[in-house]
Amino acid sequence: MLQTLKNCFGYDSFRPLQREIIENILDKKDSVVLMPTGGGKSICYQLPALMMQGTAIVVSPLISLMKDQVESLQANGISARALNSNNDDTENVMLRRECLQGKIKILYISPERLLIELNFLLKELQISLFAIDEAHCISQWGHDFRPEYTQLKAIREQFPQTPIVALTATADKITRQDIIKQLDLKNPKTFISSFDRPNLSLDVRRGYQQKEKTRTILEFIFKRPNECGIIYCMSRDKTEKVADMLIRHGVKATVYHAGLSSSARDKAQEDFINDRVQVVCATIAFGMGIDKSNVRWVIHYNMPKSIESFYQEIGRAGRDGVKSDTLLFYSLGDLVMLSKFALDSGQQTVNLEKLNRMQQYAESDICRRRILLNYFGETMDHDCGNCDVCKNPPERFDGTIIVQKALSAIMRTNQQIGTRMLIAILRGNYMEELTEKGYDQLKTFGAGRDVPQRDWQDYLLQMLNMGYFEIAYNESNHLKITTAGAKVLYGQEKAMLVVIKREDEKPQSKSKKKKESPALFQTPISIPIGEESETLFEELRMLRKRLADQQAIPAYIVLSDKTLHQLAIQRPTTLEEFGTINGIGEYKKEKYGKDFVELINQMTSK
Ligand code: ADP
Ligand code: ZN
Repeated sequence: MLQTLKNCFGYDSFRPLQREIIENILDKKDSVVLMPTGGGKSICYQLPALMMQGTAIVVSPLISLMKDQVESLQANGISARALNSNNDDTENVMLRRECLQGKIKILYISPERLLIELNFLLKELQISLFAIDEAHCISQWGHDFRPEYTQLKAIREQFPQTPIVALTATADKITRQDIIKQLDLKNPKTFISSFDRPNLSLDVRRGYQQKEKTRTILEFIFKRPNECGIIYCMSRDKTEKVADMLIRHGVKATVYHAGLSSSARDKAQEDFINDRVQVVCATIAFGMGIDKSNVRWVIHYNMPKSIESFYQEIGRAGRDGVKSDTLLFYSLGDLVMLSKFALDSGQQTVNLEKLNRMQQYAESDICRRRILLNYFGETMDHDCGNCDVCKNPPERFDGTIIVQKALSAIMRTNQQIGTRMLIAILRGNYMEELTEKGYDQLKTFGAGRDVPQRDWQDYLLQMLNMGYFEIAYNESNHLKITTAGAKVLYGQEKAMLVVIKREDEKPQSKSKKKKESPALFQTPISIPIGEESETLFEELRMLRKRLADQQAIPAYIVLSDKTLHQLAIQRPTTLEEFGTINGIGEYKKEKYGKDFVELINQMTSK
């Protein structure tokens, strides 16, 4: 098994549970596999497929996913093909012939096609195993229900002896039971791996308004010049605006949302996969269909509606295991909007509870990863050290006076105002609507002038979360003081607020890593082997891009970012050494070794 892993995929060791799952399949037993996105599910059926006689059949719901998988298998010299509605007749004839000749080790197929072929093509083949990818699509309880999946029981009826493995990244208990029942699995072994993704950093910014978001996003992207990422927004309109803003600042960006034609969506996806754009501004619809392993960051322009959505979306970063960053903006406006959606939805209670849990995550003053894992039923016995709370624990101060000013203004307007008016009153801004109502005559008018507008946004969000007031969604979002709030207002209790820290106010004195001198070609690299040379990495990246373009495949399929970093650290100068790098199997060694070794030799010798 280990040898096949190294020869065919280039990896030296298994990730947790992979070995056990593969052994179970080789024993011809059924399996259910739950692993987070990027956990390494594919190898679990691809490797046994290579070790067993015959062809493995992989059912996959999306054509783009199949394409991606087939390309990366072929890039490792493995004979894989896809059978779906994208193929033309000639392709189909060829494919059938190759299948019948037993030349194909792994055949991807759409569920519709599978049902058609069960009595035709598949009957003629020796089938090693069936893998059902994205198996949660079978369940009406899941979020991606696909009716065709419910007919997959036919596999078991026709092939009672062939092992079936069902794989998914999202399945609660009900969905899991549904998968087992509907596929009619026989005493399946269930493998649940940890949902922790330690390579993803977690960061939340509270109460930012548009201008600050823009500045933060630009700084974030400029710090990562060659690294691509996704910005998720709540509305189509917002994706367009954010993309326009980025383009105006010279960033290659595009949009992806359900309002576009399918060809425009395909183009956006292709451009992203092939690194022709750096950023995709998308609604939640984006990402399901791609396995791009080198998405280096994900930003949420708005808060998602649940932790499930959030985790799935950030999960699209860093599948290759290399450090990747995530950033969530969270504002009062989002909360108002999302609460409205939840209230208007058919399932108020559930959706409000989900939103509530998401809000707790965003508000947390303990390690955020603990909250996430806890939500998925795992407990973690240590802080992660890779979230903003761990890196920069919140400090509190006595904010009673600030809270009293705000609550008093709400009280004096008979609780008939929303946050915008409240801030205007506190700041002493003369707005037409404000003077019309005579609010400029209130005692609290201008009482909070010393606190900047954007800080008020933050404090009000904190106050809401501490339960000092509520928002009456059915009364034009007016603010209503709670019992807890009244206690602070009348001086019976203190209010401890979190100190607002803004990144841009910090002096830029962080001990910066010493930069290498710019790459003059021929200059030998001075950094010792074992430490990464960024100059070499950039050169390797460009070589990878050239090789990818020549073959019209995405760069991450040629070599992953992780492998490229290893090359820049270990700098192999012979083909043999090149072959020992993690992620380089026999096929890639032969195919790319010469080019990479040559470049490394040029860059490292005088
Ligand atoms: P999933 O389908 O669970 O989202 P993938 O199967 O696409 O995840 O795997 C994610 C990444 O991890 C891929 O780039 C894959 O090649 C890599 N990977 C999988 N198994 C291993 C392993 N044992 N060692 C190193 N990398 C691995
Ligand atoms: Zn943490």
